[in-house]
Amino acid sequence: MPVHNDSLMECTRCDDEAVMHAAYSGAHLCESHFLESVEKRVRRRVRRDDLVPREATPENPQTWVIGLSGGKDSVVLTKILHDTFAEDPRIELVGLTIHEGIEGYRDASLEACVELASDLDIRHEVVSYEEEFGIRMDDVVEDDPENMAACAYCGVFRRDVLSRYADELEADILLTGHNLDDEAQSALMNFLEGDVAQIGKHFDASLGPLSERKAQDEFVPRAKPLRDVPEKEVALYAHLEDLPAHITECPHSSEAYRGEIQQLLYTLEENHPGTRHSILAGYEELGGIVADEYSGEDGADLRDCAECGSTTTREICRKCSLLESLA
Ligand code: SF4
Ligand SMILES: [Zn+2]
Ligand SMILES: [Zn+2]
Repeated sequence: MPVHNDSLMECTRCDDEAVMHAAYSGAHLCESHFLESVEKRVRRRVRRDDLVPREATPENPQTWVIGLSGGKDSVVLTKILHDTFAEDPRIELVGLTIHEGIEGYRDASLEACVELASDLDIRHEVVSYEEEFGIRMDDVVEDDPENMAACAYCGVFRRDVLSRYADELEADILLTGHNLDDEAQSALMNFLEGDVAQIGKHFDASLGPLSERKAQDEFVPRAKPLRDVPEKEVALYAHLEDLPAHITECPHSSEAYRGEIQQLLYTLEENHPGTRHSILAGYEELGGIVADEYSGEDGADLRDCAECGSTTTREICRKCSLLESLA
């Protein structure tokens, strides 16, 4: 039986040796064609999502704030956007790193962020839960007054910091490094939860082309231009480009359900290459229809939090009530 060895295969596009094989497309790519293919997918996504609006000019540049965690995803996204727009006076990039107060985890990834921002010469802001809220995630996990998973607290604080700083930096878009695996997982989780309204909201918040989204004055639009690239390819890109990326997992990470979905998707993808792409493509198409269908049904009950003034559906926003129970 012939031994199938990827490393001995030739690139589909030239005579060089392939460094990867993508089962979903059948392509074998050498290093330079692989790097180019990742960059092309990100740029195509930027175009299809209409991220550069017509009113962007050198005199009226757009500010793009990138959530820079120091993991491979955000590092690769930042590098590709920088390479794409460094010479384009219509777009200004700012890296925003959040320090949650997690010993031994965020300190190392923060170093990666600082190194990348200085290598690329982009503006970089660091904000910490400690300075913003007087808390550290390590202590929150200890106290756990609401009997919740660490990420449930952390996500609320992260959203608050991101939207406040996006405002402060006058961001036009907030970009995050979610890859194809992340987004296919989220899509499948929303399907399985049967929450159709949530699918429409997801479309309006971060997936649809900017020009098609319902205006959400209270929130800075989000974008995920890395979402056509599978996680493994993001990791390979970071490795080949020798980017400073931090790989350790957060010690408080506890998304058990997402882990199950991830395993399920690995198996499906192995037996049916292309599953992640088709899940996400169908999900986005459905999201656009749902967003239209449900438009106007939501948002009427938004108000300002009585404590901090941020936009919420309650009297006191979730962040303020969590901070109160942690006090
Ligand atoms: S894994 Fe959870 S606790 Fe850790 S940084 Fe991410 S959201 Fe926060
Ligand atoms: Zn090649
Ligand atoms: Zn509040």
